[in-house]
Amino acid sequence: MSLVLYRKYRPQTFAEIIGQSQITQTLQNEIKLGKIAHAYLFSGPRGLGKTSIARIFAKAINCQASKGSEPCNQCNSCQSITAGTNLDLVEIDAASTRGINDIRELKEQVRFKPSGGHYKVFIIDEAHMLTTPAFNALLKTLEEPPEYAVFILATTEPHKLPETIISRCQHFNFKKVEQAEIVKLLDKIARKEGIKEIDQRVLESIARQSEGCVRDAQTLLGEVLVLDDKKISLEQAELVIPRSQFNLVADLTKRVISQDRASSLELINQFVEQGIDLVQFSQDWLEFLRKMLLVKVNSNLNKFTLTLDKKVEEVMREINQQTNLEDILRLFELIIQSQQKVKYAILSQIPLELAILEYIRDDSEPGNK
Ligand SMILES: [Zn+2]
Repeated sequence: MSLVLYRKYRPQTFAEIIGQSQITQTLQNEIKLGKIAHAYLFSGPRGLGKTSIARIFAKAINCQASKGSEPCNQCNSCQSITAGTNLDLVEIDAASTRGINDIRELKEQVRFKPSGGHYKVFIIDEAHMLTTPAFNALLKTLEEPPEYAVFILATTEPHKLPETIISRCQHFNFKKVEQAEIVKLLDKIARKEGIKEIDQRVLESIARQSEGCVRDAQTLLGEVLVLDDKKISLEQAELVIPRSQFNLVADLTKRVISQDRASSLELINQFVEQGIDLVQFSQDWLEFLRKMLLVKVNSNLNKFTLTLDKKVEEVMREINQQTNLEDILRLFELIIQSQQKVKYAILSQIPLELAILEYIRDDSEPGNK
């Protein structure tokens, strides 16, 4: 189901791509002006649409009935690309073959003119996985590409590509997609899938969980949509998506900041009894503290942090008003240190307990400093 969803809603036009408008606009301009480069480098985290855009671009430049800069998706060329049978589009997954054989083949293929379209397009996915001989072979081709050849290199790790290759490419850096845009997309897909009602908090939670990765968001949505065919509530969805722990995080932070030693320790141990994963919890805590810290410095920085439930956000602001930058920083550092230890501790709560006790030091007690 989940994979089906991702494939089913794979964008087929530039207009359907979300969150990468600068890239799609530039590419579309090049198509309109007929200024196609010989080599492109698409870099950025996985699941943001690098391969999708590469395919749409390949379609658009070979489309037989192009509408401006978009592919028509109807002509033989477009349809065969969608079906994966187009001879003028060669896709190489450098991760699976380590490239060398494919690159040798690629050198052969480059010599042959496109069979139907104007361009012969080579998409090299996970390009950073190519071997040195493969890079050398590719470089030779890039140095003197035939008129009709277009290379699109996609990679999550552009720093692993040789500078000689990078300098020959037009480089596009893909950005993580904003939560609001992902929510909009998920909402649209859910409705197309016949869901009449889905709790907005479910979509927000999925978007948050997927950290700006469209593919992950669609996969999670797929898992949620099988729960019911008409209506999805937050309670239902929590069977599949991990329950947001930020309300718990906020509660604990409040107790710690107000120096309530006993009730802070009590809460941590309640979490353990409830089976809450403290590794995930301490990661969430760090994200929460980072948000507090940035907002304390300047509320405009909030946009660079995770989005919380309105209620939790409210609690965070309250706590923030009661404390100063130094204290948040001190707690932040203590939790960073303990977070690395939680996973390996005999009792996972120990590092957090120690951090809390370290933070709430009672100066009136002898021997504490
Ligand atoms: Zn077409």
